Amino acid sequence: MAQGFVGIDLGTTNSVVAARNAYGRPEVIPNRDGQNITPSVIYFGSDPPAVGQEAKEWARLGNEEIASFFKPHMGNPLYQLRFQNRDYNASDLSAIVLRRLKEDAEAKLGLSIEHTVITVPAYFADAQRKATIDAGNAAGLDVLRIINEPTAAALAYGLQKTGTNETVLIYDLGGGTFDVTVAKITHDAVGVLSTAGDHDLGGKNWDDRIAMFLSEKFASETGLDPLDDPVALNEVLVRSEQAKWALSERNSARITLQLGSERKGYELSRAEFENLTFPLMDRTRKLTEEALEEAKLRWQDLSGVLLVGGSTRMPMVRSYVSQMAGMPPRTGVNVDEVVALGAAIQAAMEMGESSQDATPRFTLGGMRRVDDVMSHSLGAVAVNAEGNAYINDIVIRRNLQIPAENTRSYLHATHGGSNQKLEVYLTQGESQNPLDCSILGKYVFSGIMATDHEVTVDVGMSYDSNGVVQVRATQRDTGHQLSMSVEPVPDDLSWLARPPESSASQGPAEKIRLYLLIDVSASMAGTPLLEAQNAARAFLDRCDFTSMEVGLISFSSNVTLQAEATSNARRVQAAIARLEPDSSTNLTDALELARARLISDDRVRYVVILTDGYPDSPESAVEQALAAIKQGIEIVAIGIGDADLDYLRRLSSSEQGSIFAHAGELVKTFGHIARVISEGGRSLRKLS
Ligand code: AMP
Repeated sequence: MAQGFVGIDLGTTNSVVAARNAYGRPEVIPNRDGQNITPSVIYFGSDPPAVGQEAKEWARLGNEEIASFFKPHMGNPLYQLRFQNRDYNASDLSAIVLRRLKEDAEAKLGLSIEHTVITVPAYFADAQRKATIDAGNAAGLDVLRIINEPTAAALAYGLQKTGTNETVLIYDLGGGTFDVTVAKITHDAVGVLSTAGDHDLGGKNWDDRIAMFLSEKFASETGLDPLDDPVALNEVLVRSEQAKWALSERNSARITLQLGSERKGYELSRAEFENLTFPLMDRTRKLTEEALEEAKLRWQDLSGVLLVGGSTRMPMVRSYVSQMAGMPPRTGVNVDEVVALGAAIQAAMEMGESSQDATPRFTLGGMRRVDDVMSHSLGAVAVNAEGNAYINDIVIRRNLQIPAENTRSYLHATHGGSNQKLEVYLTQGESQNPLDCSILGKYVFSGIMATDHEVTVDVGMSYDSNGVVQVRATQRDTGHQLSMSVEPVPDDLSWLARPPESSASQGPAEKIRLYLLIDVSASMAGTPLLEAQNAARAFLDRCDFTSMEVGLISFSSNVTLQAEATSNARRVQAAIARLEPDSSTNLTDALELARARLISDDRVRYVVILTDGYPDSPESAVEQALAAIKQGIEIVAIGIGDADLDYLRRLSSSEQGSIFAHAGELVKTFGHIARVISEGGRSLRKLS
């Protein structure tokens, strides 16, 4: 059989394959069911496993032998699913989907497909890119290159606009990820200027919001809470997604829930849906503005906005983006297919196919080169200049074009020859704090010769054109390249938070019960509350729910127990989404309620307060806080807006536990506090 090549958009929810047609244009290849889109879902209850639409149907019927939504777990060694006595990681599961896509494309094209370009979210870090290449290889494919999804979209877009110089913003909202990219399309290159995104934000979050809304109604009417039963929750989620699709076409959707013997019908209007999910739209705005800022551009500098991803079919996306950008997004692009089409174009370039070939090829004025960037900085854990803390030392800045390389020199104490090894922990991330970055790997370089008491080792790092990391080291005075081995990253990295050389031992994780007390007084209305909600979500993302229970209390004139402390993160998320502003600020009663919920037990107990000013009776609130502290509760007080740091200090149980967050910093502050608490919260505890 003749050989061919394809581009593959390996998506979280759906995958698409494209190839060059007889005229040299990229075109989507339908699967064996005649569909352009194959759901990235596998059903293991049949032999061989069913892939795609059939598997999705089995999932809908409540079958448990289902693997779906595994792409966000690519490269995560802890993610393992067991089916028919075999363990599968996300790469194994992706390989099954890829093999199916390959077979379907081969059948359709009558070619043997050996080579491919696979797309990944711009936010994918090294391990995730490597896992994607592994999945391709396991499916019998030679992976020519991995490219960023928005870059592929820009490429497909560039194809349609020949010979013009444009700067566009690509807004890609899929099933599970959001990526925003600013790209410059010139005559001979598609260069990415900046990227931002959130790999935990996508259509699924919109489904979740509808599901929470319905569950709450269903629970209050029947006493049966779908959140307590995974099968019922699955049914609610399926109905919610269908309602979402319907609302892309119509102004209202009817939803019938049949759970157990209870049957209830609901009507959801488009306006209600848009209200429920406004905070999600707003999260995309923040990230979009981040990308623009990073590219040092304003909206008026852009010549267009391109929508990518199934979720951009929601009318709210189009209108929100139009409003934000001051121009309507470009049309005429199929939001589901554009990434695969771009991958097919890239595959053709990798295969050396060009427009100079005899047959008409792509309608480009000369073949375009793709300049891609990595959205994470690459660095290493190093000791700071003062020698008293570990820091993330960035070596290759993010948003530089790849391939890219750089070298850093480190002083290595040889201890007269007894210390021949240098351990390098590679990081990906922007924070100075290595614990806020992902640790890519532990690289151990050996064979260092003691030519002095301290020798210089040059550590070279690079991103190759797939965004995969390479690392090597040379001892400078001997010029010898050091031999390298890769060791597993230890699970416990808490030593990174301590001064170097310290070896204080850590006990097992303590059980923690915590209440978030959120000010919903009138002054919080609008952006402050949205930011508080985002911050609370960031907080939950960082909590370790295997050892933590988190609850939520809101305070205005009313003090409401929005969520009892629970290890079910979804419950707290639903409660966060419910917060609404009201008048006045009754912190005293909120603290009293929290105290009552935190009656002494074997857990470490925290109250985390967020407020934007003075409460109604500041002194009685301080009294309540002191009573709580006496009861053994740790209090962290975070202020925004008109809050006063001196007053926050009086509420909190330690100096480090009172923080004023400037505008835009709240999400980071909350994330930081959650991490400190999850790790034992020592710096936030009263030392008495
Ligand atoms: P993708 O990852 O690009 O395939 O996007 C999949 C996401 O798009 C899923 O969350 C779908 O529910 C969502 N989606 C697909 N079609 C529509 C539609 N017509 N209206 C709203 N969301 C949609």
